[in-house]
Amino acid sequence: MWVAVLTLFPDMFKAITEHGVTSRAIDEGKLEINLWNPRDFSKNKYQSVDDRPFGGGPGMVMQVEPLLGALEAAKAAAASLGKQAKVVYLSPQGKVLSQKAVNTFAKHDALILIAGRYEGIDERFIETFVDEEWSIGDYVLSGGELACMVLLDAIIRQLPEALGHDDSAYFDSFAEGNQGLLDCPHYTRPEVILAKPVPEVLLSGHHEKIKDWRLQQSVLRTLERRPDILEQLKKQDALSKDVEKILSQLLKETEADLK
Ligand code: SAM
Repeated sequence: MWVAVLTLFPDMFKAITEHGVTSRAIDEGKLEINLWNPRDFSKNKYQSVDDRPFGGGPGMVMQVEPLLGALEAAKAAAASLGKQAKVVYLSPQGKVLSQKAVNTFAKHDALILIAGRYEGIDERFIETFVDEEWSIGDYVLSGGELACMVLLDAIIRQLPEALGHDDSAYFDSFAEGNQGLLDCPHYTRPEVILAKPVPEVLLSGHHEKIKDWRLQQSVLRTLERRPDILEQLKKQDALSKDVEKILSQLLKETEADLK
């Protein structure tokens, strides 16, 4: 996958290009990240990229011209590889990112991500050049770099063979292997710590029982922490028979406790 990011702070991306699973995927060529700084395209002698908002008010606004220079350079680089990239602006006003959206992003061949700063970007640039606006949640960051990195990290986990078998994304929360539910709890050595033993079933070596226990834990966690996910799956008629059975058992137990 080919990605370009338009950012005033390219060094921030070392967080994902130089560390962990993301850096390994980049080194192995699963994803290529190209960074374009709008400041390099400023025609102004101070290389400024922002100006005061029309109508007054606090803060500054990113100007069209430096961003357009960076966008054209990124599009030309994509075109030289025969790729046409979707242009995505990370913004608190976009659609809120979900695992489903990330999985769709991971199928793209090329993306151009835009990280805003200050009060944001001149609206005329967004209207003219941005294909999609995406938010990483209902809160406001100081800049779009972290949001771009969140999206890229999540995409990388979905790229074929980007993760080793041991950290496969297939059984993560929200993933297919977990039937869209939250992941089960995990334990490692030693068997007893903080006066807490590991749940016995995990030491049994009985694969079917372990699988059943994990599913039961996933359903329980989702019920306790994110009942909205279960509601949603129910509405979509996407609850498996196994999950329905566990759920009705859990609900019966809760009713019995209340009596
Ligand atoms: N004035 C803008 C507003 O209230 O909608 C916020 C601008 S914010 C300080 C600066 C930049 O951070 C934005 O242009 C955007 O790129 C990024 N940003 C902030 N919060 C974000 C979020 N929740 N998701 C994605 N990007 C975000």
